[in-house]
Amino acid sequence: MSKIIEPLRGVHDVLPAQSPAWQFLERHTREVFAAYAYEEMRVPIIEQTQLFRRSIGDFTDIVEKEMFSFTDQGDDQITLRPEATAGMARAVISNGMLREGRLRLWCMGPMFRRERPQAGRYRQFHQIDAEAFGFEGPDIDAELILLSARLLRRVGLSGVKLHLNSLGTAAARTAYRERLSEYFKAYESTLDEDSRRRLHGNPLRILDSKDPDTQRIVAGAPSLLESLDPASLTHFERLCSHLRGAGIEYHVEPRLVRGLDYYTRTVFEWITDDLGAQGTVCAGGRYDGLVAQLGGAATPGIGWAMGQERIVMLIEKLGSAMARERPQVYLVLVGEPAEVLGFKVAEQLRDVQPRLKLQINAGGGNFKTQFRRADKSGAEYAIVLGEDEAARGVAALKALRRESAQEECAIGALGERLGALLGLTGVAE
Ligand code: ATP
Ligand code: MG
Repeated sequence: MSKIIEPLRGVHDVLPAQSPAWQFLERHTREVFAAYAYEEMRVPIIEQTQLFRRSIGDFTDIVEKEMFSFTDQGDDQITLRPEATAGMARAVISNGMLREGRLRLWCMGPMFRRERPQAGRYRQFHQIDAEAFGFEGPDIDAELILLSARLLRRVGLSGVKLHLNSLGTAAARTAYRERLSEYFKAYESTLDEDSRRRLHGNPLRILDSKDPDTQRIVAGAPSLLESLDPASLTHFERLCSHLRGAGIEYHVEPRLVRGLDYYTRTVFEWITDDLGAQGTVCAGGRYDGLVAQLGGAATPGIGWAMGQERIVMLIEKLGSAMARERPQVYLVLVGEPAEVLGFKVAEQLRDVQPRLKLQINAGGGNFKTQFRRADKSGAEYAIVLGEDEAARGVAALKALRRESAQEECAIGALGERLGALLGLTGVAE
């Protein structure tokens, strides 16, 4: 026997037992975005490497060490997308969408980063992503945060906490960067290795360091909020009052800087204590310079990304996931004429009861075997079609989870009868 082929490190299959939690999250995602009239986009998984270098920035974890990049057979430099914002911004520019004015968009799908795999941190992972282009804010900032809050509540995660900060304008940030650089230089020899390197490239990122010694130095660093320009401060205060008005609790976190270069003004993260070190389930911010930086007409933007794996882990942990996908009805078919008729009946039932979850027996077997399978499937009812029933145009209907007499039902009336028994409202497609 040849050796089995393992999946790549940090890459996972979603197994049938986990699918319901994923579907639950994705269904509510679609519904919540629809409730705010956001439109879905689907952008490519591969893009020119240049796109990410130019938008995310050279001194970020992603561009420094996490991108899956390669040169293809035609010498194109290609990268598997590590995040969605850059691609979304590229897409609204290259499709001329900014001419339509303001855009509220979302997308969902796999992202790729070559990180050290651990619980909640993978090399292929999935994000739900929201973006708004053409709005100065702070009202849209509040809307996007409210939308994320509603989605978290919808999937049963109301205990996640909102951390909020403002990075100011690009100019204010440059000034702050210099103050910070001065401050950290005095401690250069005590900083961890990554932070020492960032001192020259991107000292803001030192605020994000997980090293305990560096964190102690960070605690005394000048605060970003103190360096804010007046317009950014007003923007921030108005956002906070929108959130208070909507009853959203938040915590102002002056050290929150976010790992990507393109952010300006509002930045935020939703954090949980229930996932250990990988506690950020959603993160985002304003990127007013990004579209221009990518060659589009200067357009403000803001967005967030939610890590689907982390949300699914929480859903499973907190037990808010729906039960496994079980059939409601199992169709027992004994004998060839019944099998042939059974497939037709099943299709008709699915036509008249689009919400019915019906599993058909496959692979033959006698009554006893098929009933055992019906029981194991978790179905509430079995429909039995044997040769005798098939010949008479009827089916037997039997409850599997409670005592009740078996009833006989004309095949043509099964849809209606099941609808009544299972409380389905039949809406034919
Ligand atoms: P960190 O500092 O933890 O690396 P980040 O700033 O790189 O986070 P973002 O780029 O903001 O993360 O991504 C948004 C969200 O996507 C994160 O809050 C997280 O929930 C999720 N995420 C990011 N990277 C991964 C990954 N490698 N595996 C699983 N989920 C991830
Ligand atoms: Mg990261």
